[in-house]
Amino acid sequence: MTKPVLAIAALGGTVSMQAQAGHRGVMPSLTGEAMLAAVPGLSALADVHAETLCLRPSASLDFEDLLRLLDWANRQVDSGAQGVIVTQGTDTMDETAFFLDLLWEKDAPLIITGAMRAATQPGADGPANLLAAAQVALDEGSCRRGVQVVMNDQIHSARYVSKCDSLAVHAFASPLFGPQGLIIEGRAVYLKPAHTRSTLPAPERRHHHIALLEATLGDAPLILERVVDLGYSGVVIAGFGAGHVSREWAQVIGNLAATIPVIVSTRTGSGSTARETYGFEGGELDLISKGARMSGLLSARKARILLWLLVGCKREGELEDWLAPTY
Ligand code: GLU
Repeated sequence: MTKPVLAIAALGGTVSMQAQAGHRGVMPSLTGEAMLAAVPGLSALADVHAETLCLRPSASLDFEDLLRLLDWANRQVDSGAQGVIVTQGTDTMDETAFFLDLLWEKDAPLIITGAMRAATQPGADGPANLLAAAQVALDEGSCRRGVQVVMNDQIHSARYVSKCDSLAVHAFASPLFGPQGLIIEGRAVYLKPAHTRSTLPAPERRHHHIALLEATLGDAPLILERVVDLGYSGVVIAGFGAGHVSREWAQVIGNLAATIPVIVSTRTGSGSTARETYGFEGGELDLISKGARMSGLLSARKARILLWLLVGCKREGELEDWLAPTY
């Protein structure tokens, strides 16, 4: 019987890290092929085509790397792969997943995974995560669900997943929403139906920047005042509580929103911004009247990714639609 084809792109991260002679600490060094050798069960499930696209910590990936990865993944599916897996560092996985999800038009699953423990640490989780990612990628029920993150036997939607712990093996969660599914005895078991998704074309503009600033107690808006001069094409503010800032910041936002898109989200890590509750200066009603957009349930980091792509596609006029609640 012919086996399905699975394509795996390795980008680096802890899943590929081990100690290196002459270096303190672990470094990315294992290729995709070498990682596969630690997961013997995989070859029974699929014919695997693994390619190492780069070996980097995920903090040093950029949007160009992701657009190249997207081309590669599309080509793999066009050539017959049933699913695509990306292995990368977990530090930026919640951002890369959402970036790719906004651009992934195929029905085939695109699964991102990695590890919290380096390949040479006792109890390394990379091999188990890679096998689980393959089981999810090969499951028919994973089609038309866009990009998903598989870590620690849970399946998370790219839109809501967040790295919530710096070092724990159970670092990934989807606050409020929970995982889309679980891996139970080697099978993907979905707990929720697929949610509605829209995608964007590859961006025409690629050299612009979107700032992300967090509102903090007693801080003057010195950086916010300079974002246009610094060359930013938009700004996201992780605001207090339900999407609030101080009076001083609100005044600057009033000037900025006439020039560039300004999105306000919550810095709390969970929950939605408000739209029609608070009337004080710096509250959401004031910020909306000044031209700012509220991000709803989308985190500040993900709102920044969305705005970067919309500006890149010259479709920032659609921002309000893209931020509309999907619950
Ligand atoms: N904890 C990170 C990881 O899991 C460190 C490095 C990175 O993100 O590449 O991979």
